[in-house]
Amino acid sequence: MRSTASVLHLDLDAFFAAVEQRDKPSLRGKPVIVGGVGGRGVVATASYEARVFGVRSAMSTREARARCPHAAFLTGRFHAYRETSGKVMAVLRAASPLVEPLSLDEAFVDLAQAGLPDLEVATVAAYGEELRAQVAEVTGGLTGSVGIGSSKFIAKVASELDKPDGLTVVAPGTERDLLRPMKVGVIPGVGPATNERLRRAGIHTIADLEAVTEDEMVRLLGNAHGHGLFRLARAQDDRPVVADRETKSVSSEGTYDTDLTDRKLMEGLLARQATHVGERLRKHGLSGRTVTIKVRLHDFTTLSRSSTLPSPTDSGPAIGRVARSLLADLDTSGGVRLLGVGVSGLADWIQEDLFGETEPEEPEVELPALPSTRRSYSPGMDVVHDEMGPGWVWGSGKGVVTVRFETARTPPGPVRSYSVDDPALAPAPVPTEG
Ligand SMILES: [Mg+2]
Repeated sequence: MRSTASVLHLDLDAFFAAVEQRDKPSLRGKPVIVGGVGGRGVVATASYEARVFGVRSAMSTREARARCPHAAFLTGRFHAYRETSGKVMAVLRAASPLVEPLSLDEAFVDLAQAGLPDLEVATVAAYGEELRAQVAEVTGGLTGSVGIGSSKFIAKVASELDKPDGLTVVAPGTERDLLRPMKVGVIPGVGPATNERLRRAGIHTIADLEAVTEDEMVRLLGNAHGHGLFRLARAQDDRPVVADRETKSVSSEGTYDTDLTDRKLMEGLLARQATHVGERLRKHGLSGRTVTIKVRLHDFTTLSRSSTLPSPTDSGPAIGRVARSLLADLDTSGGVRLLGVGVSGLADWIQEDLFGETEPEEPEVELPALPSTRRSYSPGMDVVHDEMGPGWVWGSGKGVVTVRFETARTPPGPVRSYSVDDPALAPAPVPTEG
């Protein structure tokens, strides 16, 4: 923890939905839900107008439809999100050499490196407002919420306090008073499992947590987590802002005291590691094409085998399937003492057509790709009509696609329907990234 409030956290508000509302004037002020629209789809982002109806990220699209049937349900346009994110990150990088993006719509900025005259609360608050104004300007009106504090933890907590479109500075020295009434879940790393363990011990708030001794905390949560949580409960967080932390790969591995010989067990362990890798990829908004397994044999020979997929994935089951097939090619009859799964060749975000689908419970049988004979138009997608010009897909089905003709720079536009085979209509070219 620093003595100044010099860590800034910016979190764009309802980012994917806000980009859609910017580019689709008829949706401004209306409930918009971005995510998987198929049977197993989940909500990625809901606009604030949809949140009023109880729609939340990670909710199944089915439930979101029940709660807010009149919302616009759109699949993602990731090129637009990446492009907009790039502009925001450029604003932040111009402000400080130390910018640490967490995802497309979130980043830490080290204000101690920003060249400010001082780091007084009033100075950093004014600078935070200036950054918010610049973000709105370069993104065509998107809002972001800013938190500023003496550590990453406090900055992140602070950016939630006046969301959306707000700014909160936590003055140095007031951190613990701020945290005490909050639920333990605001602490990074306190997920559902830890939360439940703490709840059973009667610990609900950070004030409750503060009353627990370090020994007791370690008994409750184990060594690594216990010490860390003891410190965070006291707002002690010295994690630096790390610029351009480029994740080259995400992996999970385990070493075993006894040599493993049971193939089924090894497959199960790989599947579990793959699930873990998938979770971490999704958490950081990443996906990758190359799946690698690492196997250390009883004689300490270490083998690795890789396979590269045609398109990036962040799906645990998909990673697991590749990992198991790679294992099938190795002779492990002598026993295995280490197993690991990794994914590399990371991209910013998952390929669009895989986005937002939850995984089936049962392992899927691989099906050969079916040749696609028709153009597919997903809701929200950009299209161009020879005469009408640019628009977006409002809906499609039964061979008909309905388009609204409008862009970020036009007023709300007219709606027309066409046959999906209409030669005058085509998906808009997606700008290539440089
Ligand atoms: Mg956000």
